[in-house]
Amino acid sequence: MRCPTHCLRETVSQHPASPGVIADDERLSRAGYGPTTHYKKGKVTAQIVRKTDILNGGTLSLWRTPAGNEALLDIAENKLRANTPAGQWLYDHFIPTARDFRAIVLPDGKRGFSVVDDCETGSGPDPMHCGLKVCDHIGPLTDEDERYIILKTALWKLFKSNPRDTHTPSTP
Ligand SMILES: [Zn+2]
Repeated sequence: MRCPTHCLRETVSQHPASPGVIADDERLSRAGYGPTTHYKKGKVTAQIVRKTDILNGGTLSLWRTPAGNEALLDIAENKLRANTPAGQWLYDHFIPTARDFRAIVLPDGKRGFSVVDDCETGSGPDPMHCGLKVCDHIGPLTDEDERYIILKTALWKLFKSNPRDTHTPSTP
């Protein structure tokens, strides 16, 4: 389910380092860092998505892996582990599919997010890096907007329900 009427960036490759636009069955990795960054009393919280990730044209960073490629998921997991904040550990490796993100809709039935093959990591391009952006048709959101709450909550639930089974949590 692409979004050609709203977000052309999802149907046209966006970066010279990209292997191409993102297929529905690709896994998109996100880290859950604990014990406090994304967790409270051992449960992942809505803090796994920050305001700046989705408001004001922000991009939620993800790492893409073709369907069924466990070796590349291991590589993605190592990237997440390498980016662990000081004093934290990689508690979970969440792996929803691109289709899962594309299925998030607002009450009006319109798509909430587009998935973009944006390879910029902040420290150079990486072909595995991609991003999630709020669809253009939604327009500017504030953190008090009901649609923002709906979208943020949908992402939180999506991550919570898609941990990687073979993930081995880091230990201090
Ligand atoms: Zn869109």
